[in-house]
Amino acid sequence: MTRHISVQEEAKIHLQEAARDFQGCMQCGKCRSVCPVFKELGNEIYVARGKNKLAEKLVSGDLQITTRIKEAINECLNCKSCSANCPAGVSPEHVVLRLRWYITTQEGLGFFKALIFRQLLWRKWPVTLAAMSIAIVQRLLFGIGPKNPVRHLFPLFGFSKRRYFPLMALRSAQSRHPEVTPAKTDGGMQAGTGSRGRIGYFTGCAGNLIYTGVVDATVEILTSYGYEVVIPKGQKCNGTPVLANGDFVGAKRLMEHNFHLFNSYQLDAIVVACSSCGMALKKEINLFIEESEDLRQFTGKVYDINEFIAEKINIAATDLGPLPYRICYHDPCHMVRGQGVSRQPRELLRMIPGVEFKEMRDAAVCCGSAGSYCLTHYSTAIKINNHKVRNIQEAEVDYVATACPTCVMHIQDNLLQHRSPEKVRFVVEILADSLRAGKKID
Ligand code: SF4
Ligand code: SF4
Repeated sequence: MTRHISVQEEAKIHLQEAARDFQGCMQCGKCRSVCPVFKELGNEIYVARGKNKLAEKLVSGDLQITTRIKEAINECLNCKSCSANCPAGVSPEHVVLRLRWYITTQEGLGFFKALIFRQLLWRKWPVTLAAMSIAIVQRLLFGIGPKNPVRHLFPLFGFSKRRYFPLMALRSAQSRHPEVTPAKTDGGMQAGTGSRGRIGYFTGCAGNLIYTGVVDATVEILTSYGYEVVIPKGQKCNGTPVLANGDFVGAKRLMEHNFHLFNSYQLDAIVVACSSCGMALKKEINLFIEESEDLRQFTGKVYDINEFIAEKINIAATDLGPLPYRICYHDPCHMVRGQGVSRQPRELLRMIPGVEFKEMRDAAVCCGSAGSYCLTHYSTAIKINNHKVRNIQEAEVDYVATACPTCVMHIQDNLLQHRSPEKVRFVVEILADSLRAGKKID
């Protein structure tokens, strides 16, 4: 007979396993030298080795959960630099995520997190309604510029007065696009044989409610190259922010929902244009859904949009119109280390005529955004980002291209605060501009 174990016990077992995996640590200190948080805060408790010590002592009962310990555990960007550089092959961020889960099961999720993760994100419409209300208020009160009087209210919500938020969309991308958009061409197949394939598109919340131009660009490009695009209207948050905040139960519910939803559509591939959504659907989903052929087929179908275009679509040089831009590329952590994708977005940018691609210093170092980290730990997030802004300025570019909504938001915010003129955009938007200039897309 299988013994039922409580959520608390399950979290403790996972934490013990993660701490055991950490026993391969050689105490070399390499993780210290690459950790952006340690670089700014300079305390051993913030690095991988320190957090593992906390894990061991918490599960053995030698330490009790205190505010100081919770603070230390929340000081992690999940940037994966420590794992990527560890000579012993251990994964410190797994320990961090399990520590957060363990603490949540011991202390409860708290009213606001439970409301957001278990109710608002699950029901989805309140988030859409809130985003649209903010979009209207932003436009009524003169946009997001420095003269906006609403800035004086930011500190009431814990935000810096200097901060630049992006403009929310008046209409969500999912409401502007039909669930199924047919292919515009046969994509080089013989006439009458249909499209090149049926692609599911996981837009992500930011693509749906803020950076809707990315959704337009993705749909335009895919349909113009012969693919049918399906945007399942029932899709919900990918679960990564929920997981990062220690709510494994909430994350599991969201991951299972999206898994079953996308599986019900007979798709040849699933694309995402957000690095964290891509990592969730390719990798993190394995934490929650039992291993099976269905799961292997699902994760094997997921592509970041840059990866899909570079590897599956043969864009002819004659399709592209010139763009006279100097551009560098910032590697989002969940793209370069989370998915191993870094070559493809650079290839797409380099093939645009007129673009001068410039590699910036430390392009793959975290910009400090880290999802909700730049909302909850703004001052450290800005200190980390100051290095990124200096490297962008040194590269002397017009645009910073990237592939993650929170990187766009955070880097653009700090560039504006530095009165630096560079604009941050998604690679796929820039590519769509070039295809428009080349008259391949409308
Ligand atoms: S880099 Fe790896 S082996 Fe070295 S101290 Fe950090 S976790 Fe241990
Ligand atoms: S994931 Fe990043 S922020 Fe967290 S401990 Fe590792 S290097 Fe530091």
